[in-house]
Amino acid sequence: MVDRKGLKNRGRSRADVDDRRKAVSDLTETKLDAIGDYSFDPETASKNIENMIGVTQVPLGFAGPIFIRGDYAGGPFLVPMATTEGALVASVSRGMSVISESGGARTKVLSDAMTRAPVFRTEGIDHSVKVINWICENPEAIDDAVSATTKHGRLLTIEPFPNGRNLFLRFSYDTGDAMGMNMATIATEAVCRLIENETGAVMISVSGNMCTDKKPAAINAMNGRGKTVLAEAIIPGALVESKLHTTAASVTETNIRKNLIGSAMAGSMGFNAHAANMAAAVYIATGQDPAHVVEASLCMTTCEDVEGDLYIAIRMPAVEVGTVGGGTRLPSQSEALEIMGCKGDGKARKFAEIVAATVLAGELSTLAAQAAGQLGSAHKELGR
Ligand code: NAP
Repeated sequence: MVDRKGLKNRGRSRADVDDRRKAVSDLTETKLDAIGDYSFDPETASKNIENMIGVTQVPLGFAGPIFIRGDYAGGPFLVPMATTEGALVASVSRGMSVISESGGARTKVLSDAMTRAPVFRTEGIDHSVKVINWICENPEAIDDAVSATTKHGRLLTIEPFPNGRNLFLRFSYDTGDAMGMNMATIATEAVCRLIENETGAVMISVSGNMCTDKKPAAINAMNGRGKTVLAEAIIPGALVESKLHTTAASVTETNIRKNLIGSAMAGSMGFNAHAANMAAAVYIATGQDPAHVVEASLCMTTCEDVEGDLYIAIRMPAVEVGTVGGGTRLPSQSEALEIMGCKGDGKARKFAEIVAATVLAGELSTLAAQAAGQLGSAHKELGR
């Protein structure tokens, strides 16, 4: 018999979770012993999940160490990665070892702003311009509405995009060490109510999709979302040959033909080998929103053969990460952040640089493997 009471139970305690899992188990005639085998207090996850029945465990490894010479991250780092893709951690570790031996990865956070872009219905072009003018003339009232919702969040800009009877306003916020999506949404909603009351424009949705959250979008690739992060390294030619079994010229050609021309041919918005792989594994390990891998995939990788040495760089326009809030509160995820010294206040930009350095290492290793014709054999050996 199906225990409907168990399914409807909305409690947060371990007993509530057990009841619900039993109801699902009975309903679906499945044994859920692995899902029910977990160590943390489910109350800890009360802001992260509804209808909790247990956990999905993902194997966690570490890549590295990687030596980073960043504006925020300095020194050697071990990077936790949660994945089920055999060969990924080994490949990233290989890239990290080569980068470290070459003097490390230089990293830089170029900009840092989380966006939310509501859409309003207006009466037409003149009304839209009146709304825009009201916004320009009332910065204090708008700032007051924002600060009533958050201590750490600060509105940076509102960029208007009027189009017929639609007015899109792209709000950008400094969200401190939080990834900031909840913060930006709540603050934007408060400002939208003010705009509605003062101008008569009607907010149709707090997210009008020009934000753009969790969808591949040129606006994020060009203007950035979250942190825009750069990373680069120069690998001496001798090391490219001894450790990666290829040459700077061959890696550079592979990058141009594959990551640049191939991606353009496919209409891809990501010009990289597999940036999403590294981002996904680090995001899952550290309690980031895994859907933001979509924006991480907008990475562009460039390579140059500099007289036999290999210059490799990545530009990640949208690294949406935090070291407080969201899933970073959970015990395993919080410990993973601690491994890198990235838990809590003042660590978000450091963490974003480590993410970028990890992506750089993964790009280097995979490009080199393809240049050397080794990708298939590595996966066959380690992943099957
Ligand atoms: P959050 O956990 O909702 O908010 C961060 C909290 O940390 C705030 O209460 C903030 O307080 C506090 N805080 C303490 N120290 C801070 C510091 N140093 N810097 C910044 N904040 C600090 O996290 P969020 O990053 O805004 O949102 C992340 C969550 O949003 C994720 O779980 C994600 O899955 C979800 N999400 C939401 C949407 C949406 O549309 N709402 C979309 C995508 C993802 P104050 O605000 O008072 O400063």
